[in-house]
Amino acid sequence: MPYEKDFCASCNRLRVSSVGKLHLCLFGDGGVDLRELLADDAQQQALEERIAEALTHKKQTHFLHQGNTGITQNLSYIGG
Ligand code: SF4
Repeated sequence: MPYEKDFCASCNRLRVSSVGKLHLCLFGDGGVDLRELLADDAQQQALEERIAEALTHKKQTHFLHQGNTGITQNLSYIGG
């Protein structure tokens, strides 16, 4: 259950939405736009660099205990 202690402890979850946004947490804010890089095979290196840079901002947990669900009011919003 997401409220259990250590639920996020070994998180390696990422999600790319149907509109090409990389979400670092299912309950995170915003998202990193990958769409134009995903659409062009010549941009593979730039895609990898953008994902690697985004990962440096991945939080270690969600903020549900503070009532913050990020943009995810409903997991169906990002296809989950
Ligand atoms: S709530 Fe966010 S940080 Fe926690 S396990 Fe899920 S995706 Fe990972």
